[in-house]
Amino acid sequence: MQITEIYKSIQGESSYAGLACVFVRLTGCNLRCSWCDSEYTFTGGHPMTIEEVLGEVEQLWPDGGLIEITGGEPMLQEREVVPLMQRLLGGGHTVLLETSGERPLARVPKGVVKIVDVKCPNSGEPDTFQIENLQTLASQDEVKFVLSDRTDYEFARAFTERHDLGQRVGAVLFSPAFGKDSRGARDASHCLLDPRELAGWMLADNVPARLGLQIHKFIWDPAMKGV
Ligand code: SF4
Repeated sequence: MQITEIYKSIQGESSYAGLACVFVRLTGCNLRCSWCDSEYTFTGGHPMTIEEVLGEVEQLWPDGGLIEITGGEPMLQEREVVPLMQRLLGGGHTVLLETSGERPLARVPKGVVKIVDVKCPNSGEPDTFQIENLQTLASQDEVKFVLSDRTDYEFARAFTERHDLGQRVGAVLFSPAFGKDSRGARDASHCLLDPRELAGWMLADNVPARLGLQIHKFIWDPAMKGV
């Protein structure tokens, strides 16, 4: 499979935020989100066998730990990534899969925690989530919405309500998008949507979601790779 990078850092998002995690970042994406912070994964990378990926992961997490499979869009390499996730689960790891849900998720192994990033209107890639994938979501899975303004928020709130996500999945995440010119400032000033404003909306509407911040962007330079 084509791999951009494998590294250990602090998980910045989801209900696993704050935990040490090994990231396996696959190369390639079929979407072009306007606020994407992973454009360096669109091309390049290097080919690795499943055994080589497992070898690097085991060096970083010898006794089993939290692993995130991410990209890019990892499900574009379904033929290799599905057996990789099975092997990681078999090795005692907790496996998270970060995906847009644009590809079918039916063959993702049951023990994997799917974190599905449903694209909002202002992402530049609306309507890309395959609605059939809702049937694959279970209580350990999470649905994330990255929000840049009130229109995105209202889409996320309506989608959450229409599909009863508060009951269907383990967590619904509303996260402000970061601006692309975010190099340097490790604070909320580069969020496209002010987290305080989002918090106010969520409190007013009692949405069954948690506000998420990409905490790795507060710890390190927001433009830094490999963290
Ligand atoms: S799906 Fe993810 S990697 Fe692909 S363009 Fe959107 S944010 Fe970037």
